[in-house]
Amino acid sequence: MNLRFLLINPWIYDFAAYNFWARPLGLLKVAEFLSQFNVDLFFIDCCDSFLVKKFSTGKYHAEVVEKPSILKGIKRNYKRYGISETEFIEKLKKIGEIDLILITSIMAYWWPGVKRVVEIVKDLFNNTPIILGGIYASLYKNHAEKIINPDILYSGQLDENFIEKIEKFGFNIKRISFSPKYWWQLGFYNSMLYAPILTSTGCPFRCPYCASSLLYESFNQKKITEVVKEIEELSKIGVEDIAFYDDALLYNAETHIKPILREIIRRKISVRFHTPNGLHVRFIDKELAELLKIAGFKTLRLSLETVDIKRQIETGGKVTNEELERAVYYLKESGFTSREIGVYIMYGLPDQSIDEVRAGVNFLKKLQVRIHLTEFSPIKGTYYWRELVKKGIISEDLDPLLTNNSIFFEIFSIYDKSDIEKLKIDVSRFNLLL
Ligand code: SF4
Repeated sequence: MNLRFLLINPWIYDFAAYNFWARPLGLLKVAEFLSQFNVDLFFIDCCDSFLVKKFSTGKYHAEVVEKPSILKGIKRNYKRYGISETEFIEKLKKIGEIDLILITSIMAYWWPGVKRVVEIVKDLFNNTPIILGGIYASLYKNHAEKIINPDILYSGQLDENFIEKIEKFGFNIKRISFSPKYWWQLGFYNSMLYAPILTSTGCPFRCPYCASSLLYESFNQKKITEVVKEIEELSKIGVEDIAFYDDALLYNAETHIKPILREIIRRKISVRFHTPNGLHVRFIDKELAELLKIAGFKTLRLSLETVDIKRQIETGGKVTNEELERAVYYLKESGFTSREIGVYIMYGLPDQSIDEVRAGVNFLKKLQVRIHLTEFSPIKGTYYWRELVKKGIISEDLDPLLTNNSIFFEIFSIYDKSDIEKLKIDVSRFNLLL
């Protein structure tokens, strides 16, 4: 009889959340990997409960929950997003006896969702071993060991070591195939309106606020044929929207994204594409802009972060203002509307003045693009984290709950809060009129 493994994506616990094509891709990749062994896989995505809106995005069902004591001072509702606890427990009971539980973790400040899942499964499956992986587990090992206390904390990327670790529980795991199934072939989701896709892992840049290089040692791009096949298969099963999760989708454009898009166009694959992660505008030339348009990209997010030239250089030089202007020009020439082109700029970066943020907003207004003001919050292990610790602004053992970008700024900001509120209102009005 096969072993029975259960994979769980915990709830989001936050002040706000919206489903922009979210699926726990890391956990789903674990499932693909395990599909080559003598195990039966069961899966619960606690976040898979939302009202579908434009382009298959969704408004999560949510329930107000008690705030952890450290967040008591924040005057906003704290919620659990996704299925109800009752529904979760019913799903667990329906699955029945399990040999191993694998739980993922995404944002570090969502750890209460992970904790609650672990409490419930420990209650129901007393001695079943638990493995915790994912971003929070990789970046906040000590915290996760202490607060979640899994049997194994798995950090880093998936390889054969993973099987060795599992075998320590006394399982006899045998490989039965060398061709993993795609995650959507495993019957985990009832609705497959949208899907995420990764054409690469890691990022060749090293921005001081980003954890990409902490999670992936190197930058690797998949073969073009593999990417196109995956996209084509997804379109065949009825997926309407595909979101690229890559950190550097456009890097090596001539040998990666351009041939991928040409092939999608040649095969007449009809899906809408979205890039929720910021794109590197440096690589958008006339041809790439046209390919993006013809292939069916509907949501484009470009990275600027700051308009300040000195800070652009200090933070790794991934973009210049001229490069953004040029990219926006080509995108509009290719038929993208102002509303379809969104640009990220950050506020709250260490030593960043409100005037710098305003200058960024004004620059983007002139370009007539959608402005996405994003709050900076530090990630453990990054250069900016160390700088903030050095300056005494945060402590090395800061509770990840306080790194939630919707409150970090509120607590640690050097700006007058009313200034940033005014700017946010101004940006919303501008975006509405686009
Ligand atoms: S370019 Fe983007 S993904 Fe790459 S290091 Fe910078 S912020 Fe991270």
